[in-house]
Amino acid sequence: LDGISKEYIVPRTGQRTLAIADVSLDIVQGEFLCIVGPSGCGKSTILNMIAGLAEPSAGTVAMDGAPIRAPGSERGVVFQDYALFPWKTVRENIEFGPRFRSDARLGAAERDKLVRHYIDLVSLTGAEHKYPHELSGGMRQRCAFARALANEPEVLLMDEPFAALDAQTRLILQEELLRIWGEDLPRAERKTVIFITHGIDEAVFLADRVAVMSNHPGRIKTVMDIDLPRPRR
Ligand code: ADP
Repeated sequence: LDGISKEYIVPRTGQRTLAIADVSLDIVQGEFLCIVGPSGCGKSTILNMIAGLAEPSAGTVAMDGAPIRAPGSERGVVFQDYALFPWKTVRENIEFGPRFRSDARLGAAERDKLVRHYIDLVSLTGAEHKYPHELSGGMRQRCAFARALANEPEVLLMDEPFAALDAQTRLILQEELLRIWGEDLPRAERKTVIFITHGIDEAVFLADRVAVMSNHPGRIKTVMDIDLPRPRR
């Protein structure tokens, strides 16, 4: 992110909000970055710009040197509210991804194997034919997680994905996320994770590096390396 500013203009009233002012940040392959800050400081705005869902008013967001202009399958997004298709089953949600639609060479057997792998990975085995309304919040979030992972994105973008969950489920999914990130792998083999939270505890527990934002308009106040051994539970 290079010199990013973002101003929202409400169409009818013309009211302007400078949400982000001059944010620059380098995110390195394989790192787990948490972005923390008070509600309304612009965390989602930054994530949406990286996802290609919002455009900066000034500055550039680039990945591997190429400006980001639209969503892409190399970036998987998980939102707080799951964003599952209510009329599709767990299985259908997971295999809906762009990878499954665009890769015509993917045969039925291979496709089944892949979907099965991601269902097992998030422990939804046995629930593949259920609809989202039949699942608990934790199961829905796992499903959203599997759907993002099934596209095998290089970068996982997560916007307070665990905020609505009970403490126990949150803990399980945090541990799963660390495993999927590649906690036990060399850095070169890890995914890149950009994770938004307003809980500094959660950030310190999960991240390699924590960017702290301040409010009005959102700026990055400080970036900390978390190089202590991760606390084990
Ligand atoms: P956070 O994720 O840290 O809670 P957001 O990125 O959602 O912060 O919002 C940052 C600021 O931009 C807030 O003042 C919010 O009200 C404003 N904002 C966010 N989205 C829009 C929008 N679509 N239109 C107008 N203002 C917005």
